[in-house]
This record gives sequence, structure tokens and C-alpha cells, in this order.
Amino acid sequence: MAIWVGADFDAAEWAAWWLALQAALPGERLLRERGQADAQAIDIALVANPPAGSLRDLPALRLVQSLWAGVDRLLADPTLPPGVPIARMVDPAMTQAMAQTALWAVLALHRGFFDAAAQQRERRWAQPAQRRADEVRVAVLGLGEMGSACARRLADAGYAVTGWSRHARPADGFATASGEAALDGLLARADIAVNLLPLTPATRDFFDAARLRSMKPDASLVNLGRGGHVVDADLLAALDCGHLRHAVLDVFRTEPLPAGHRFWSHTGVTVLPHMAAQTDPRSAALAVADNVRALREGRPIANLVDRETGY
Ligand code: NAP
Repeated sequence: MAIWVGADFDAAEWAAWWLALQAALPGERLLRERGQADAQAIDIALVANPPAGSLRDLPALRLVQSLWAGVDRLLADPTLPPGVPIARMVDPAMTQAMAQTALWAVLALHRGFFDAAAQQRERRWAQPAQRRADEVRVAVLGLGEMGSACARRLADAGYAVTGWSRHARPADGFATASGEAALDGLLARADIAVNLLPLTPATRDFFDAARLRSMKPDASLVNLGRGGHVVDADLLAALDCGHLRHAVLDVFRTEPLPAGHRFWSHTGVTVLPHMAAQTDPRSAALAVADNVRALREGRPIANLVDRETGY
């Protein structure tokens, strides 16, 4: 038995992950490089953007554990061996970080802090009208690990939150809605939409021209999910014509965001460098170890991905 770690980490990331994984998995044989003989022994792969095809020739493989929360890129690899369970990263430290980012973005939009920062650059003094948090309607799209924590944190901060998911998911402290039929009404009322959907065939290009048009005039979008959820040109058009007020974007179709992209210079866009909820190897390695132990002891694996739905 051996565990192969396949990732596109830089040197500093490798050092941090290796230390954390070795500490969390004492007694396990961890491999970064692998030879022909190793390939026969590898039964677990820990992966973060592994080279395409690298999971193909591992006959003993019994678990693919993603080191990232999002598995859209992993599932897009056509050489992913069929039938091998895939687990995604769920780490309470990441979830907490995401809730902090969502709260910061919603607060800054609600209270006009982004506008104040722009005014400072122009040496312009203008006090915006202020509303109470309970007068601000926030739609959180996706009520999974991240979305439900964000919805709860925003509701605790006093916002009028409605969470949206595929299946009905009643929750304490905030309203919920589900299914396509509820979406138009929800977006037509929301002052701020926070996207925390997974990127799947059903959600790719989710925020296209029609969906952006269905949002309340002067509403703002916070995209913390994936860049592929947003049609960039359609979002820019919605901002340019004044239909939308502001977009806070943490994720992009191409990362790093290309230097010439209009998002960088648009006054209605706040760009974050995919930092909403970074994986911390110290806590993530503990989540990995839980699943490794579960596999070794024949217990159920946590956070399995459904290949059919893509999340
Ligand atoms: P998750 O636990 O898999 O939750 C997905 C949620 O989306 C579920 O509530 C699911 O509904 C809902 N959903 C899926 N497809 C849907 C559809 N077609 N219509 C309506 N609802 C749908 O995902 P997560 O771990 O919370 O991650 C959320 C997003 O955050 C992902 O895009 C991930 O890549 C991203 N992320 C970003 C960062 C960052 O730093 N920016 C870090 C981590 C994760 P049901 O509950 O009904 O199944």
C-alpha cells in the first residue's frame, strides 16, 4: 500500500504539504515521485490539479482524495479511472475563511465601503445613504459546505438571507428556496447575490446575460464559486449599462486573471486573487488523514463526489 501525492504545487507549497501530510499520516508510505513498481502499490491518490492522465495506470487505486474543495477540473480529466471513489476537501478552517470573505464582501457592498475607497482615490467626500442590515436582501446560491456556512454567518450579521439549492434544504436562521422555479423571483428581489455553486454542466455559464438581467436593478454579484459560472462579457455589459452596481470576483475563467482583462480596471469590479478560502495544509491534512483511516478500516469515506451531478 502507498499514497501518491500528485499536485501542481510550487516549492513552498510542496514543503508545507509534505510536512503536514507526514505528520498526519504516520506509518503511511507517501510518494511524490513514482516508479513502475510503485504504481502497483498505490491505493490512494491525493491530488490537486494532477498532470492529465496521471491516475490512469494505477491498478490498485481505491480512493482519489482531492486536496481542493472544487473538483471540476479533476472530473474533466477523461482518463480518470471509472468506479474509483472521489472525495473532495472539506476543511472547517476553509469553511470559516469563506464565511469571513462572504461577510466582508456583503458588508462592503451594503455600507458603501468600495465606493468610499474609490472616492478616496479621487479626494472626493460624499457620505452614502445607509440602510440597516435587515433591509438588505442577500441570496446565497448553493447551500453546501460553503454556502450554508456563509448564509448562517450573514444571517447572524442581520441580513435578510435566502439560501438556494437544488434540493429543498430547510435551515435555522435563514430562509431557503430550491429549484429553477424559485430562482427568478429570488434574484429579482436580492440586493446582493453570493455565488457558491459548484461548477458542473448544469451551472456552467450560470450568470449569462439573461440571468444577469433577471437580477434586481442596482444589485451586486459576489462570485466565490468558480470563474466558469460567469460569462465575463455579459457581466461587463450588465455593469457598463448600470443594471448591476458592483461585482466582487474571487475566481476567474483563466487564473491568474490575464493582465489585459477589463475586470482589472473596471470601476464596478473588485478583483480578489482566488483567496476567499485557501486550503491550509495543516488542517486539510487532518481531513485527508480521516479519510485514509476510514478506507484502511473499512468505514464510509466522507465527502464523496457524485460523478453524475459533478459535485
Ligand atoms: P458543495 O458542498 O458541493 O455544495 C454545492 C451546493 O450547490 C449544494 O447545496 C447543491 O444543492 C447546490 N447545487 C449544485 N448544483 C445545483 C444546481 N444545478 N442548482 C441549484 N443548486 C445546486 O460545494 P461547496 O464545498 O460548498 O463549494 C461551493 C463552491 O465554492 C464551489 O464552486 C467550490 O469550487 C468553491 N470554492 C471556492 C473557494 C475559493 O477560494 N474561492 C474555495 C473553496 C471552494 P443540493 O444541496 O440540493 O445538492
